Amino acid sequence: PTLRNPEQWCRSFSHFIGQCLIKDFEARPSVTHLLEHPFIKQAHGKDVALRQQLAGLIREQQEVGCKTKTKHERINTRKTLIIERCPDDDLVNLEFLDEETIISHLQRRYDELQVYTYVGDILIALNPFQNLSIYSPQFSKLYHGVKRVDNPPHIFATADAAYQGMVTFCKDQCIIISGESGAGKTESAHLIVQHLTFLGKANNRTLREKILQVNPLVEAFGNACTAINDNSSRFGKYLEMKFTPTGAVIGAKISEYLLEKSRVIKQAMGEKNFHIFYYIYLQFDLMQDIVSSKLYKEQFDAIQECFRNIGFTEEEVNSVYRILSAILNTGNIEFAAITSQHQTDKSEVPNSEALENAASLLSIGPEELQEALTSQCVVTRGETIIRTNTVDKATDVRDAMSKALYGRLFSWIVNRINSLLTRQAKGEQKKNGMNVGILDIFGFENFKKNSFEQLCINIANEQIQFYFNQHIFALEQMEYQSEGVDASLVEYEDNRPILDMFLQKPMGLLSLLDEESRFPQATDQTLVDKFEDNLRCKYFWIPKRVELCFGIQHYAGKVMYNVNGFLEKNRDTLPADIVVVLRTSENKLLQQLFSSPLTKTGMLLHIYIYIYIYICYLEHLKMLSRFVCVQVDTMEMMRHPDETTNMRRQTVASYFRYSLMDLLSKMVVGQPHFVRCIKPNDDRQALRFCKERVMVQLRYTGILETVNIRRQGYSHRILFEDFVNRYYYLAFRAHQMPETSKENAVAILERAKLEDWVLGKTKVFLRYYHVEQLNLLLREVI
Ligand code: ADP
Ligand code: MG
Repeated sequence: PTLRNPEQWCRSFSHFIGQCLIKDFEARPSVTHLLEHPFIKQAHGKDVALRQQLAGLIREQQEVGCKTKTKHERINTRKTLIIERCPDDDLVNLEFLDEETIISHLQRRYDELQVYTYVGDILIALNPFQNLSIYSPQFSKLYHGVKRVDNPPHIFATADAAYQGMVTFCKDQCIIISGESGAGKTESAHLIVQHLTFLGKANNRTLREKILQVNPLVEAFGNACTAINDNSSRFGKYLEMKFTPTGAVIGAKISEYLLEKSRVIKQAMGEKNFHIFYYIYLQFDLMQDIVSSKLYKEQFDAIQECFRNIGFTEEEVNSVYRILSAILNTGNIEFAAITSQHQTDKSEVPNSEALENAASLLSIGPEELQEALTSQCVVTRGETIIRTNTVDKATDVRDAMSKALYGRLFSWIVNRINSLLTRQAKGEQKKNGMNVGILDIFGFENFKKNSFEQLCINIANEQIQFYFNQHIFALEQMEYQSEGVDASLVEYEDNRPILDMFLQKPMGLLSLLDEESRFPQATDQTLVDKFEDNLRCKYFWIPKRVELCFGIQHYAGKVMYNVNGFLEKNRDTLPADIVVVLRTSENKLLQQLFSSPLTKTGMLLHIYIYIYIYICYLEHLKMLSRFVCVQVDTMEMMRHPDETTNMRRQTVASYFRYSLMDLLSKMVVGQPHFVRCIKPNDDRQALRFCKERVMVQLRYTGILETVNIRRQGYSHRILFEDFVNRYYYLAFRAHQMPETSKENAVAILERAKLEDWVLGKTKVFLRYYHVEQLNLLLREVI
């Protein structure tokens, strides 16, 4: 701490006084009134950890009757207490580290309803598939500014670590939650938001309530019932909670990624549309099922409440409902072929009721709507020709309209929430505000039939996995190397080649798909042929017996994709005629949704901002050569944003790639925390632990390697200067103020009788247990 940073100095000073009080207390353990000492009371809120440490100490001392023990015995007793607390709270503490041991530990813990376990600083969360009573306000209080070892592992502890990290180091934080569909990511994200709102206790109660209502509102529009999960997120979500430098919550912002729009028009067997449609449907009194009706009614009321609390106007909410109802009616519009003497490719709407309803809800003319659905204006050589649509074509246009309406409505809701929740935060943010981001992205998917949507989802997961690997393994190894410490390279499954196969330009899978999408004559077969001719890689293959399919060996397993509809889904074209007619609407919201998309300049501006962020980041992490390679590929793409030069031609794949990079750029600027959600069984049953399923997930998420690398490695690296400043009491007298040199660091290490540490060029490399030992000794000598 320096005097330039008075706050930090105060904290350190308070810590120092606290340590003295602890020492004092240890000499005369009966002084329980110390807890009421004004200094400690004052420290409350600033150094809660210390206060709790003191309280724990008193309890502990009373239990072991320390009065009768020598100093040495006391250290040992405390060591035992720490170790005995729960030896398998953290997998890296286990003595035997084979797969079988890890699994049986997790199983035993799961049987005892201990669903959380650490692997170093990563949290493993097993889905309990039942409500646990560990998320109450009492638990929030327990996980407030404490050391990790003081409490059992918990999702709140991760939120607390991120919060403490942000406040202490003035650095943005980022919590990355990953796992298969149904593993518990979204629930974990909710719990983190809940705890962060508690920790960042805003004086403004309404703001806290607003933030807590963001998730339910967005999820009503973005989640749906799937074969795997009744409340499956059909979009990726990055929620940033914004705080003042002192840690008070002041706002929130959501970014959404890749909403699965195709669900609006079609759902696989046994799956449903987005939740909100059922709530709306109920308003028409069309629901037959009484039980569902009651449930949906409650949900609808809750959503109404969210809209109101977050600050949407009544007019806006009504417009939202009108558009949703219009989408429902649009789905009922049917077409029939008109066969006349000259023309056979004309269609009409025989039953106009649905069409009229939709048009009226959208505040547009029914004739104009019918015209836009059944014909199209084509401009060739300066001449405008009207072409009629066949029944199939008209149906496609209808579906494209529904998808566009829903997709844009969803984005509008998200943006509106952002503007309502950051209004206040804007001024505060200028004063060095910080944030904690929470990423809840759809998990890896492998269904019986996988399509374009699964491909995008799985690529996003590959990217997250890559980031995780880079963070855990590569960073670890590179730090060893840059410090000149021998790092017998730890083997791990690098998924970079698969990621390259997808994202490389111009021969990656997504580029090939884009290229093929540009040819109007392209078919599913030509697409498969193109893949087969160009993708030569062991992770890709075309099966012999199954038609129009290709297989990918993902990091998480083999997936067979069916290319049926890939091109159309990727083109995602919305005919200009539809845009024109929707723009004539009197509904203000609708006009807004279909006003010009982000202009070219606006888009470029965004891109430059991202490049800037990347450059800052790359500067910061020059050593990450492997990582840089991938970023350079992506920056190339950003510098030549061919797809962005014509927004109307932008494909889903190119937009997807863009949003993936957008997401990554947000993630890399923060200090990451990882939560790995694991699904213990596929039947959503409480207390059922399927070893094989868990093993597979642990293996492909790299948890097993993580355990090894943490265990074998030096989990703590401290600069010589910091080390000497922190621990010089162990070898020097208080007034000596030793030089913060390597030699003095060694003197301290030797004096402390630690074994098996290593010296780097600028840092001391310590094992995870060394730090505990040093801190115990420090408490003794201060
Ligand atoms: P994901 O987002 O990974 O697809 P969800 O978070 O939606 O999965 O979780 C799926 C289901 O599992 C939830 O609807 C809930 O029933 C159950 N679940 C997940 N986490 C918890 C938890 N911590 N406590 C109780 N139930 C949970
Ligand atoms: Mg989810």
